[in-house]
Amino acid sequence: HHPAHDLHEHGVAAIRNFLRCHTCYDAFPVSFRLIVLDTKLTVKKALQCFLLNGVVSAPLWNSQTSSFAGMLTVLDIIHLIQYYYRTTDFERAATEVETFRLESLRAIERHLGVAPPPLTQEHPSNSLFDAAKLIIQTHARRLPLLDSDSETGQQVVISVLTQYRLLKFISINCHKEIQQLHLSLKRLRIGTYVMSPSPDPSNPYFPLATAKMDTSVFDIVHIFSERSISAVPIIDEDGVVLNMYETVDVITLVRLGAYQNLDLKIREALTQRSSDFPGVVICTASDSLGTLLQLIKKRRVHRLVVVEGEEEEKRGGKKGRLLGIITLSDVLRYIVGHADISEPRMKPSTASTEAP
Ligand code: ADP
Repeated sequence: HHPAHDLHEHGVAAIRNFLRCHTCYDAFPVSFRLIVLDTKLTVKKALQCFLLNGVVSAPLWNSQTSSFAGMLTVLDIIHLIQYYYRTTDFERAATEVETFRLESLRAIERHLGVAPPPLTQEHPSNSLFDAAKLIIQTHARRLPLLDSDSETGQQVVISVLTQYRLLKFISINCHKEIQQLHLSLKRLRIGTYVMSPSPDPSNPYFPLATAKMDTSVFDIVHIFSERSISAVPIIDEDGVVLNMYETVDVITLVRLGAYQNLDLKIREALTQRSSDFPGVVICTASDSLGTLLQLIKKRRVHRLVVVEGEEEEKRGGKKGRLLGIITLSDVLRYIVGHADISEPRMKPSTASTEAP
């Protein structure tokens, strides 16, 4: 083994150990607010609540049985739009989507044949390592943390642990270890990358899903729903990345019930995007995992687009051309490692932690 490689491996092992030695509670901020939605609410009300509170998911509560009923996420809404829009016209889709009750969403997802959102949950005093593993294994992206009331024995939703919060907690508390993570993203195979040559003649960027400026929003909704992904890069004729279109963009587009907006071309839809859109975060495949985690500490990034950099340009490539996409689940999957690895528990390296 090369010493540089060993240092990296040591850093990863130390982060895994850090996660084993801390509970989900440790990653909570001192005070936080939790929005829980009743399953009897209509989709319209739920969407208003998302937008009003700046959240993109919430635990559902069945008040008839007084129990947790899974999570509502933006992807559920995308599936619903996909379901109605392909069968009816705008007006009907708009009214039906909005009067729909949250409790009936699962039936739609079964009908579409898409994976139902997992009912997974975890107790907040379990380890962050177990929570991270569960998030990866179930593709849940977020994990509701439940406890039971000591008097009534009833379920209580305590909080939701997201991929971002987990990674941010690592980035804040494992400063030294992160500096050791200098192997490149490409070498670690973190993310999804263009295959060359492409096995699919109709898509030179296979297996990436991409769109052009004149693709319609609805065509992208279809891709989101079919592949259960949350963003597509917008590229030009040369494959140079111009922008990114995300599931949350669709939600803001239809927020006023303007489902006709789904017919817009991306070029037009982007002009309606709120001015606080943070922008597309770009990196090159030779950037290190450590650099990425440092970025997560500073900014609320959810995905990065990997483009050709100077290195590829020297070899005849084109600067800015799409090479891949890296999301938080890709990073977390690498950090957690294979689910069956069992490493000896070491002494925790940091005594006190800081919550994000
Ligand atoms: P996350 O799982 O972090 O919430 P996504 O749902 O967007 O993010 O991504 C899920 C998986 O699909 C990841 O492994 C990611 O690399 C891959 N992916 C994301 N966007 C695309 C895309 N446009 N084309 C192909 N694969 C993608």
